[in-house]
Amino acid sequence: MLETAANSTRPIALELQDLHKSFGSLAVLKGVSLTAYDGDVISILGSSGSGKSTLLRCINLLEKPTQGHISIGNEALMLKPTKSGEMQAVDNKQLDSLRARVGFVFQNFNLWPHKTILQNIIEGPTQVLKIKKEQAIIDAEKLLDKVGLLDKKDAYPANLSGGQRQRVAIARALAMQPRVLLFDEPTSALDPELVNEVLTVMRDLAEEGRTMLIVTHEMRFAREVSNKVVFLHQGVIEEIGTPEQVFDNPTSERVKEFMASHN
Ligand code: ADP
Ligand code: MG
Repeated sequence: MLETAANSTRPIALELQDLHKSFGSLAVLKGVSLTAYDGDVISILGSSGSGKSTLLRCINLLEKPTQGHISIGNEALMLKPTKSGEMQAVDNKQLDSLRARVGFVFQNFNLWPHKTILQNIIEGPTQVLKIKKEQAIIDAEKLLDKVGLLDKKDAYPANLSGGQRQRVAIARALAMQPRVLLFDEPTSALDPELVNEVLTVMRDLAEEGRTMLIVTHEMRFAREVSNKVVFLHQGVIEEIGTPEQVFDNPTSERVKEFMASHN
């Protein structure tokens, strides 16, 4: 996406408004607002502990926010406060339906070890989207072909390298036809020689116009592939802009220091 304006004529894929999250007395997110338009590729940078994972996990309520609003497309997730101070979904059916529109790729793949690669991919489409098994297999094989692993469809995760497992995890996320893909340090658990095969798949997805939020420490990748970069610091957005703005001309001293130490 070459478009750089803060506002876009593209439809909104994901909107976060004033998101807060505390764990007990520890305030981790302190009011994060962020809009992803269709086709946006947003890299999220920040030091360890700045709240990046918590932010992604709040989007599909893997963590329950303590305050704020979340919309997928033009549908706002209905949330209500609980006694513990966390928000919970008013309607679990709505939560399931919104969750199905958000694909999540984890650092550690989270594949089902006792299912084959093909079974891992068709599980969501058949169980959640109620797609017929025959169709789900056809779709899964196309996705496996796309990530270069069709020949591994009957293997088990344990028989794959880390890079292959992560490509399967990406195919599994795509099989749910999500509106938005979230990646939480997808290459951090990989041996260095396996990083590029995963980044190549992600680059292809970005070029296809997929909407992606990517927490990463791969600076070159973030610069080349994203159209927006967010720098999170202590639970607030310290800086947001195009890659050129945030990498080359950051206004925040903290971002300058971070960039200097990550070259
Ligand atoms: P990042 O992904 O940027 O490294 P995290 O979102 O994982 O940061 O963590 C932000 C802060 O929240 C850290 O101080 C971490 O210890 C804390 N934290 C994360 N998850 C939990 C949890 N489940 N319970 C308590 N504290 C948590
Ligand atoms: Mg993290």
